[in-house]
Amino acid sequence: MSAAETRLHLSPSEFHRHLLERTVPKLRYEGDEVAAWQRRLRTRLCRLIGEWPARRVPLRSRRLWLRPHPLGTIEKVVFTAEPHCEVPAYVCLPAGAEPPYTFMICLQGHSTGMHVSIGAQREDETKPYTAPGDRDFAIGCMQREIAALCIEQRSLGERREQRQQALSPHGCHDATVQALMLGRTLIGERVYDVDRGIDYLASRGDADMNRLGVMGNSGGGTTALFAAALLKRLAFAMPSCYFCTFADSLMSIYHCADNYVPGLLQWAEMADVMGLFAPRPVVLVAGAEDPIFPIAGARKAYRQLQRIYRAAGAVDRCHLVVGQGGHRFYAEDAWPVMLEELARLGGKKGRGRN
Ligand SMILES: [Zn+2]
Repeated sequence: MSAAETRLHLSPSEFHRHLLERTVPKLRYEGDEVAAWQRRLRTRLCRLIGEWPARRVPLRSRRLWLRPHPLGTIEKVVFTAEPHCEVPAYVCLPAGAEPPYTFMICLQGHSTGMHVSIGAQREDETKPYTAPGDRDFAIGCMQREIAALCIEQRSLGERREQRQQALSPHGCHDATVQALMLGRTLIGERVYDVDRGIDYLASRGDADMNRLGVMGNSGGGTTALFAAALLKRLAFAMPSCYFCTFADSLMSIYHCADNYVPGLLQWAEMADVMGLFAPRPVVLVAGAEDPIFPIAGARKAYRQLQRIYRAAGAVDRCHLVVGQGGHRFYAEDAWPVMLEELARLGGKKGRGRN
């Protein structure tokens, strides 16, 4: 017997890879009529991401502060997503634009929190903070005369675990596993917060409800992608450093627990999830050197997504922008593409520099 024949398969990843290679997602896009396929997969995905509250509680939004900014104004607010669950957020209004505003919902990933989006320190927002990798999303929006709603994601930033001792490096582990035991997922809960953020924008009266979008990087890209897939009120999306195949990213390289949706691969790959957004415009941003969402996987997933968009008659509305670096956002590469899409959307013009 050769050494290869006697080698034992002891690593769980070996078995899971074996299983993965034999798993054909049951609702993978195979050329069906797009809208009917989307209805089937969206219904399934809603179940997989876990339960949402049966009814929406009042938002009870209140202002914490309002400050002038060189690019406009920034207001800090808090609203109630569900009982015992409040969401801090910044509302950034560009000086050069008039209401109703085009709004981008901005989501940070595993960083110190949403303060990064406005380039301010978390503990003292009057002090500047230099956001690495173009992660000051709201500043990028205001520079282009787009309003921003920056939401703090569950278990990150100000919503990090502060009562129970958290031992995992990002603190999302406990929240994720508790959610699973309750029939939920952290992804589902974070998407719900985005939906409540849209409710909040509707309540303000200064948002153009036909021109709402979502963006985020890494863990913010995850939520942006699932929110786009599930929330019909979103008109455009710009997920960064997340779009890939599940097989080449989450199933091959370490990622923390809040990235996972139980059972999802039995039904869909990531391109299928993103395909639920077709024919609405999407700008996917990737890093050529991203070590945790490899570019080869992103390109492979993009080819499958193009197939869905083509079938929806909108292949020119899905874009892959590749920055020449690692796991980060690429503002100068991505925004010109998004601004062209915003100009095509109609309604109020989203004037802005490239
Ligand atoms: Zn995490």
